Amino acid sequence: MIRYCSVCGAPTTSNIPEGDNRHRHVCSSCGFIHYENPRLVVGCVAEFDGRILMCRRAIEPRHGYWTLPAGFMENGETTTDAATRETDEEAGARVAIDAPFALVSIPHIHQVHLFYRGRLCSPDFAAGDESLEVALVSPTEIPWETLAFRSVRFCLERYLMDRQTGCFGFHESSLEPLNEAH
Ligand code: ZN
Repeated sequence: MIRYCSVCGAPTTSNIPEGDNRHRHVCSSCGFIHYENPRLVVGCVAEFDGRILMCRRAIEPRHGYWTLPAGFMENGETTTDAATRETDEEAGARVAIDAPFALVSIPHIHQVHLFYRGRLCSPDFAAGDESLEVALVSPTEIPWETLAFRSVRFCLERYLMDRQTGCFGFHESSLEPLNEAH
């Protein structure tokens, strides 16, 4: 919801601009059209010595739950830049990215989640400001009951399956709203 114009500050109205087929927030004064598009969240499955780097969230949503290093892509970065930056910021770890691994569309929250797979350069890590703790967890230790997001679950499930066969693919999915609020 964009109530005020980002250009001139006047109130916006919701209407369908000429030649468009969707409602947009259009400035009532200068006519600027504020397009809202999905945001890309980028993260990674980083492995070291058979274990996977995971973070316990220190922020909402899903405070206290476990996730993979991931976050909103910034302007001016590539997707691999975003994955390595988030791994550094949230887990204090350096990752060498290998390949894109999972893509999850979540239309109802206007997000797309992209996970790479990669390897930690060393077993050094430290919880960043957005993490309560960071750990290298073995596949049998993954906290399935306290995962923060369904996209992370999808990614980890596929990762472990591919890891067993030794053949990593690329996996795509989409998520629909749950009845409960997450
Ligand atoms: Zn305006």
